[in-house]
Amino acid sequence: MSARCPHCNARLSWLSLKRAFRCPSCGSDFAATTFWPWLATIGLWSLADIPLRMAMPVAEGAAASLGVAVRASASLGIGYAIACVVVGTFSTVSMANTAHERTES
Ligand SMILES: [Zn+2]
Repeated sequence: MSARCPHCNARLSWLSLKRAFRCPSCGSDFAATTFWPWLATIGLWSLADIPLRMAMPVAEGAAASLGVAVRASASLGIGYAIACVVVGTFSTVSMANTAHERTES
């Protein structure tokens, strides 16, 4: 489940998908559209947080901060997994518009 370079077909980490990035394998410049995948990730993440809150109720008192920390790290892990799949799968990678960059600089 990951995006691939349209030029050399190398696997691209979802973390490297940005508005402008360079393929680590062939060095081509690309632009990735990740807005909608990120929006879907945030939506799924907040949905996944609801059963997590029910499954891990935070205790009152001294144990509360530990409970919050454990639940927060579980939530982060879930969010990371969702982003990995959704952003990696649904981001669109296209050739960078280098002509546009030249006119800007
Ligand atoms: Zn490449």
